[in-house]
This record gives sequence, C-alpha cells and structure tokens, in this order.
Amino acid sequence: MEKRKHYKYYLNHTLWKKICDVAGCNEKSFQTVPADLARKVFSFKEDKTKYHLCKAHYKEYKKNTKKERETQRMDW
Ligand SMILES: [Zn+2]
Repeated sequence: MEKRKHYKYYLNHTLWKKICDVAGCNEKSFQTVPADLARKVFSFKEDKTKYHLCKAHYKEYKKNTKKERETQRMDW
C-alpha cells in the first residue's frame, strides 16, 4: 500500500514535473511564489527559495499575504 502510494507520487513528479509544494498536496503547480512569504501561510515538503502552489493554495496564499505584500510595496 505504502509503496504504491509512493510510486504514484513519483509518477506525478515525473509526468508533470511541477507539483504543489505544500505538505500533503499533490495538485499541479499553478504559480511560483517566494518562500519567505509562503512559509508564513503553509508548511512545505522541503526547503526551497521558491515554492510551487496549486490554484487553490495560491488563492489562499494571496488572501493570507495581502497585508505583507502591501507593506513591502510601501517600503519601496
Ligand atoms: Zn496545493
């Protein structure tokens, strides 16, 4: 059972390459986001400088980082 699950996961990565990096999510990547902001919203499978998010997680990311992103813009 566990082996089979792993194989499916491996196949997903091989065929589509880009899969949502959020822990427990295997959806196709929709957008790439900077890691420092994304880490405030989700926990990820591994450490990267940029993360792939699926459509649903990207929507959540945008909603949850709105304040941070506005603050960053004001700094400039
Ligand atoms: Zn996702």
